[in-house]
Amino acid sequence: QAKTSGKGNYQFFSKSLATQSLQQARLVQRLHHAVENQAFELFYQPIIDNHSRDLVAVEALVRWTDTELGVVSPGQFIPLAEKNGMIEAIGNWVLEEAARQLQTWKSAALPSIKVAVNISSIQLQQPGFTRRVMALLARYQLAPQDLYLELTETGLIQGQEQVMENLYELHRRGTRIALDDFGTGYSSLSYLQNLPIDILKIDRSFIINLQESNNGLILSAIITMAHSLGMQVVAEGVEDQSHLDFLTAEGCDLLQGYLFGRPSPANDITARLTNQHPGTFRPSPA
Ligand code: C2E
Ligand code: MG
Ligand code: MG
Ligand code: MG
Repeated sequence: QAKTSGKGNYQFFSKSLATQSLQQARLVQRLHHAVENQAFELFYQPIIDNHSRDLVAVEALVRWTDTELGVVSPGQFIPLAEKNGMIEAIGNWVLEEAARQLQTWKSAALPSIKVAVNISSIQLQQPGFTRRVMALLARYQLAPQDLYLELTETGLIQGQEQVMENLYELHRRGTRIALDDFGTGYSSLSYLQNLPIDILKIDRSFIINLQESNNGLILSAIITMAHSLGMQVVAEGVEDQSHLDFLTAEGCDLLQGYLFGRPSPANDITARLTNQHPGTFRPSPA
């Protein structure tokens, strides 16, 4: 097949494949190294209550800077970790670090916030997952309500028994369940209403293309339906004032995006919480 597209292309095609798999193998090897050395960091991105405009939660986002490869984005290494048996180790580290940091904020008597943690469906497949999360929360003297777990629909839609068991049990114990990247997959709201989901996170592709197509109408319909199902709605990717105006008019509950702050080290969040007067959290200067 590749031969028919001409010599030059054939050459390029085979070379780039070889290069790709070599790079991939190197990445997996470095990732193993990073897992062994816990060479990760957590950044936190503000989540703003649209009524009070206070910072009410942060999303924990994992960061990895390899000594040889430099910065590798989670969009790149999380799927690799899932394929190569490393996501549990990384996921456990993330949960532990997020809980530890939240406890630090709590004991500093700052305005109280929640922390949202991204969970891979592979983690939810583990029979002991709920028990371990509860033990972790207890160890850091946190309530289940302090933690939001962000899941994507891909892992949920298959309806695996163990995944469902964990999901229901976590929800029953008081952990908030958020469905991440909503709108990018195939699930309908009518399917989701049967699952214990508290929060719908609308994928940022809807917000970023707001003015271009029917996304505004779709967004408005999603928010209305989510509310009628008793869910809160978070918009991710809120980048400018026009996004904010639209989402406010549509009654979106929570906002996340560069307009309010990029993912940043814990100290930046501490500083913001220290300076936050109720109701005065404003978009950060550009
Ligand atoms: P996500 O959970 O949907 O996280 C939101 C992503 O959107 C983050 O990318 C964030 O930096 C980015 N973002 C936030 N606001 C804006 C905005 O206004 N404009 C634009 N253009 N982007 C914005 P990030 O940190 O690169 O993470 C990418 C994905 O990697 C996450 O998507 C999540 O699926 C995954 N991920 C990150 N950390 C973890 C983790 O600890 N565990 C797991 N399982 N997955 C993680
Ligand atoms: Mg997320
Ligand atoms: Mg998301
Ligand atoms: Mg997303």
